[in-house]
Formats: sequence, C-alpha cells, structure tokens
Amino acid sequence: MTDTHEGRSQEPVVIIGTGLAGYTVARELRKLDSTVPIVLLTQDDGAFYSKPMLSNALAMKKEAHALASFDATAMAAQLRAEIRVHRQVERILPAEHGVVVDGEPLRYSKLVLATGADVRRLNVEGDAQILSINDLNDYTRFRDALTGCQSVAILGAGLIGCEFANDLIAAGFAVLLIDPAPTPLARLLPPSAGEVFANALSGSGVSLYLGRSVSRAERQPKGYRLTLSGGEQIHADLLVSAVGLVPRTALAAQAGLKIEHGIWTDAACRTSVEDIYALGDCAALQGKLQPYVLPIMHAARALARTLSGEPTKVAFPVMPVTVKTPAAPAVVVSPDAAGEWSLEPVAAAGTYAARAVCHHADDGRAIGFALVGAAIEGKAALLKEMAPGMSRVAAADTPAR
Ligand SMILES: Cc1cc2nc3c(=O)[nH]c(=O)nc-3n(C[C@H](O)[C@H](O)[C@H](O)COP(=O)(O)OP(=O)(O)OC[C@H]3O[C@@H](n4cnc5c(N)ncnc54)[C@H](O)[C@@H]3O)c2cc1C
Repeated sequence: MTDTHEGRSQEPVVIIGTGLAGYTVARELRKLDSTVPIVLLTQDDGAFYSKPMLSNALAMKKEAHALASFDATAMAAQLRAEIRVHRQVERILPAEHGVVVDGEPLRYSKLVLATGADVRRLNVEGDAQILSINDLNDYTRFRDALTGCQSVAILGAGLIGCEFANDLIAAGFAVLLIDPAPTPLARLLPPSAGEVFANALSGSGVSLYLGRSVSRAERQPKGYRLTLSGGEQIHADLLVSAVGLVPRTALAAQAGLKIEHGIWTDAACRTSVEDIYALGDCAALQGKLQPYVLPIMHAARALARTLSGEPTKVAFPVMPVTVKTPAAPAVVVSPDAAGEWSLEPVAAAGTYAARAVCHHADDGRAIGFALVGAAIEGKAALLKEMAPGMSRVAAADTPAR
C-alpha cells in the first residue's frame, strides 16, 4: 500500500461493527455528509436489532428474527453505505491507513472501532454447558435450549442477570438467581436499596442464592446439579451465565493502540493513534467504560461531527439506567464522584419501594440516586434537581484538536 495524505481523503470512512455503535455513527455521519463513502464491516449478518430486547423478549414470545428490524441490505440502502457481512477484520495497519479483511487489504481515511464486547466466561468445575446471551444468535440458542425445561439457574445478579430472571419468571419458568454479592444489582444499587429490590424479586417468585457462587456444575440425566460455595446443592434444567462483558480490544492492542479498561479514547472518541476512533462497548472514553445505549448515542453524535471535520467532545447529560424488571422496577444514576448514600422516606410507598440518594462528599448536592418500586415516580424531580451543572462532559482537560 502506498500512502499520501491527498490520496487518503478519497478513501472511505471504515467502521468495524454493525451494532448500535457502528450503525448510529454511520447514520449520524450520513446526516452531516451526504457524499463521504462509508464502508461497514461486520463478522455477523449485519441485521439491525435492539440488543436490550434480548433480556425482555421471551415473555413477549418474540423470536430472534422478530427482534431484527432491518437486514444488512436495507441498512445499506438507508445509510447509502457499503456493508460487508460475515467478514472478520484480522488486523489494523495504522501506518498504512488500512485494515486486513479475509486476507485482503482495505484502505481508510478514518477508521472507527465499534467492535463491542465478549461475554466473560466463568471458570466452573464440572461438565456443564453454560449459555450466555449477548447477540441474536445466542438468543436463538437460548430459546431452543429452553424447550422441555422447567427451571433455569442464572449465574450473576447484575443488570442483565436480573432482567433475564424477570423475563423467565414472567414466561412461566422457575428461576434460581445466584450471585456472590449479598444483594442483587450490587454495582448499581447501594445495599439498602438492593435489599428492597431483592425482596421484590423474591416476591415475584425468583429464588435468590446470594452471597454464594457456583463451585461445580455437573450434567444429570435431566438438567444439572450445582454445588454452591458452602456445599449446598441445587438443581436446574438450564444454566445461563450473566457475569459481565469484556471489551473486544485484541485488534486495537495488536495495532499498538492504548488500552485502558477498553480501547482508550480522549473526550472526542479519538484513540491514541491518528485517524482511528472508538466507541460503544469496546471503548473506554477517557478510560471509563459506559456500555449502555444512551452514552453510545451521545458518543456517536459527537463522533460523527468530528469525522465530518468539526472536532467535538462528547457531552453527556445525566443518564439514568432503567432496569427492565417490571416485577421490581428500578432506575439508577450512578454517582461519578465520591459521595454518601442515604435512604429517604417514600411518599407513596407500594409493597416494595426504596429511594436512595447519593450526596456529594464536599458540597452535599445530589450526584446520584437509586429508586425501586413505587419510588421510581420520584425520577423526574431528582433528574431536575441534578440537572444544573451536571452535563458530564468528558472532562475539560483534553481539548478537542
Ligand atoms: C441482554 C442485554 C440487555 C441489555 N439491556 C440494556 C438496557 O436495558 N439499557 C441499556 O442502556 N443497555 C443495555 N444493554 C447494553 C447495550 O445493549 C450495549 O451497550 C450496546 O448494544 C452495545 O453496542 P455495540 O455496538 O458497542 O456492540 P455490539 O452490538 O456487540 O456490536 C459489535 C459489532 O462488532 C462486530 N465485530 C466485532 N469484532 C469484529 C471483527 N474483528 N471484524 C468484524 N466485525 C467485528 C460484531 O459483528 C458486531 O456487529 C444490554 C446488553 C445486553 C447484552
């Protein structure tokens, strides 16, 4: 590959990944620039689907194909872009402004990494098959595996584990939810609110095994026998792991990009290497992972402006995370500074309700909250209270070039 700056500007913007991050940045860029050539590369089939629906589609009886709103051909027409499906990018060659796909080089003017994350694999002794659900193919396998099952054990009571527990209970399965932490959603909810959330989940029929992990899982004539830390044995027909995600950084690391939790970027989604950008589950904006829909949408809009020639830092408003557990609704804004949580009284308390607010350690202003059950009614007022001065601009210490 030969390289000149002039020649480069005629090369396409290449985006690796057709998940929410890749497709949203392509859509936003196309709005700003009707002519720039865009090529999207993906190792999957390029169908556009709502990933958050994977954990609440079962009770709605939705099959995988019903979650995909457009196939790659329709997306290519909408975006006026080229989409190459079932293509795995093998290498990035930053010095040559190129990537290698199926052994063939492809040049870029700008490269966007939107490669998502892999599921974290649990190291459990025994011969059990443990499913995890992170894309449409996983969801198809999960639905097939449920045939003939009555009970499902979910390993991990974080956001995704709790949502699957809720969905499976609503779909008529017995659910066993296991986590080493003493309360569910331990990374999102302070323990006081976590206890109320746990009671609400139990009230809906989920069997909670908290403060315990699975040390062994063995196949039985039907289903699996699980041995928990402490020696207790339980049985489930199907095992699902929901113990978190690991950003896909291998391609970036191999090309010498800085990795810090994920693919490191500055406040404007620029990686440590010129003309390469990253966003979504693979990226750590200023070293911080934010693997949720709203931060991705905000990052995609800012990145599209940067790609179209107007360097733009990502500015986040306050972004609540809503846990899709109708049996125990919860909404959380995680504090981004040191503070102290306090449990406050709830005016219109239902059977299960908790309102916890986190106040800044120095000036006492509200910097986060966790609302469970009937207390979620207080969300709008709390967001309003937090709004002034709370635009979480990726910090001002990295000026946009
Ligand atoms: C079950 C579940 C429920 C969720 N619920 C919520 C929710 O309620 N609210 C919320 O805010 N967030 C939720 N999330 C998180 C949110 O869905 C994700 O943050 C978001 O969808 C990630 O999008 P992405 O584009 O970064 O990654 P992905 O959607 O994973 O896309 C990655 C893309 O990269 C491609 N790719 C990777 N490597 C290569 C390669 N080498 N070559 C070519 N292509 C490659 C893949 O084919 C894929 O197209 C949930 C996530 C899950 C799993």
